[in-house]
Amino acid sequence: MHCTAHPLRPGYRDMGTAHLIEEAECWGWDLASLEAAAAADPASVNFFPESRDFIHHKLTEINTVLEERRNVRGSVWAPKWPTNRTSRKIELELIKQGVDLVEFVQRVTPTRLRRAGRQWVGLCPFHQERTPSFYVDQAKGLWHCKGACQRGGDIFTFAMLVFNITEFRDAVTFLSPIAGAGGHNG
Ligand SMILES: [Zn+2]
Repeated sequence: MHCTAHPLRPGYRDMGTAHLIEEAECWGWDLASLEAAAAADPASVNFFPESRDFIHHKLTEINTVLEERRNVRGSVWAPKWPTNRTSRKIELELIKQGVDLVEFVQRVTPTRLRRAGRQWVGLCPFHQERTPSFYVDQAKGLWHCKGACQRGGDIFTFAMLVFNITEFRDAVTFLSPIAGAGGHNG
């Protein structure tokens, strides 16, 4: 498949190895949690193939560059492989729990959401439309567009698309303080 339409295309070969491992870890945890949510509730279409393909593609790109570097690790000239990293899994989970997606969507886009059963619905911020097809599941922290763009995901993919953030760790840095502040407001 071609991915030229996707806005998120960082140059992974320009990144340090520790940074690449971090990106792979964040995308990996995110994909795993989205897959788990989709598996837990197959009736709720909250994770489109478009988004799944996109994350698969990113992980493939990152892992290709990491594999190239792993292949030359045996050389005495190869830089030291980064170790002693702390996992970012907990941090990602805290952000997902700490940011109210309904509130966030309305704060950072012109989209206004209204309740539609267990979900919220409004005009999609990522494509032009007159009939609302953008759905947010507040409890799960997931969103999806059933209209033209067919995108979906969680707070991370949403923030990256709205603010054109290309690296996962930049999304984490951006969302961490928002998640912290949200906790005090209840
Ligand atoms: Zn859309």
